[in-house]
Amino acid sequence: MSEKIRVRFAPSPTGYLHVGGARTALYNYLFAKKHGGEFILRVEDTDVARSTEDSLKMVLEDLQWLELNWNEGPDFHTLKDKGPVGPYRQSQRLDIYKKVADELIASGKAYYCFMTDDEITLQRDKLKAQGKVPHVESPYEKMPPAEALAKVQKGEKAVVRFKTRQLKKDYIFTDLIRGEVKFPSDMVGDFVLLRTGGMPVYNFCCVVDDYMMKMTHVLRAEEHLPNTLRQLMIYEAMGWKAPQFGHLSLILDEDRQKLSKRKGATSCHEFQLEGYLPEALLNFVALLGWSAADGKEIMSVSEMTERFDLARAHQAGAVFDAVKLKWMNAQHLRALPHLELWNKLQPFFKKAEMSFEDVSAPWIEKSVAALKTSFETLVEGAEIFKTLSDKHFAIAAEASEVLAWPTTKAVVEKWKELVLAHIGQEMTESDFSAMQKAIQEGCKVKGKELFQALRVAIIGKPHGTELKILVPLMTKKSLVFRAESILAK
Ligand code: GLU
Repeated sequence: MSEKIRVRFAPSPTGYLHVGGARTALYNYLFAKKHGGEFILRVEDTDVARSTEDSLKMVLEDLQWLELNWNEGPDFHTLKDKGPVGPYRQSQRLDIYKKVADELIASGKAYYCFMTDDEITLQRDKLKAQGKVPHVESPYEKMPPAEALAKVQKGEKAVVRFKTRQLKKDYIFTDLIRGEVKFPSDMVGDFVLLRTGGMPVYNFCCVVDDYMMKMTHVLRAEEHLPNTLRQLMIYEAMGWKAPQFGHLSLILDEDRQKLSKRKGATSCHEFQLEGYLPEALLNFVALLGWSAADGKEIMSVSEMTERFDLARAHQAGAVFDAVKLKWMNAQHLRALPHLELWNKLQPFFKKAEMSFEDVSAPWIEKSVAALKTSFETLVEGAEIFKTLSDKHFAIAAEASEVLAWPTTKAVVEKWKELVLAHIGQEMTESDFSAMQKAIQEGCKVKGKELFQALRVAIIGKPHGTELKILVPLMTKKSLVFRAESILAK
């Protein structure tokens, strides 16, 4: 490829980034990186009612969290444009769209249409009754532009429509994912470019921007496939070369319906709060509609970049499998250096009001190594580490049955006695099993009367992470404190 690859992610900011948006952004990012190109962020905020500054910040924060860094577009911190072909926010480009619309009117490819909504409805109903396709047939299509402009200047309300009725042909293009796509021109009627009041519509802005921002490829969601027809018509009318298009397969839920938030988390922000790693989420969305030639599943972004190839993007819808995402998150968590994983747990400890300030580096190493296979998200990780925090030691309701057993008191007393007699502050796994044996023999208990009583004495509840893993991570002081709390019950 000789020209420099330029691709964009063009969100309409209306809230946190959806996982589908994250996938579109990622594919564009990978494609740019793979081909030494540029990844541009364009903000499609002409829906002024919904596109607030806050929702833009939400999207930028999510992209930043995912580290899908853009070469051009609004700066993450200042929101000021960086790059040579801005502004990158459509709301700041209205004069540009107006100028292109004027050109199209002047060249007879578009026109001012003064039809009222009622007139349009009436016409549509009539056409339908005649068994015809209800496309707008505007009487203003042939009005000389100067006459129409005079009406507009007098204050008459008008939209600007694109002329389609004379086109009468098929628009054919090769989609990078779907292959040849053919749309007959009469699939659409004269469509609006500028609304009354001058606000441009998506299809129009998109073409003007993709052209002026020098996009070479447009990779976007499948729902935009039919829009491509209108867009190709505008490119042709302006004499502009269209970019290459690639439409990414749909993302479906487990019932093969369009993914919706009613059935669980769908925004990147929710996954962040639930303790997913950005690299795991990216890895997961990458595989929604694409697979590596060598079948590799767990990949870093640079491994994905190396392998990324649109020829391997799937046409069929991809099912969003939340269980797989969680599994994938666990794989990424477990592969982290222990100290890094520990650092990533900190915000989740903080949220759970836990702190492990006085712990040593070897303890961190040992505890992360011992516990990391017991959790799949950082939230679950914080929950597991909570069992080691004395401040959070509590006797669970489900411990009451164990506390009522006649053997429990003796078990806990013996346990406390053995802990106190232990030399040194910490215990090894084999110290612990020796103690368990001593209690079994000394108190003549076995099975759940032994094990569940010990669990309650150590973690306040009869179920949870294995004691032989937890006890070596706890101090003598902590174990005595816990045993005494139980004995006091
Ligand atoms: N703003 C559109 C969206 O969020 C982008 C469409 C496109 O990429 O052309 O779906």
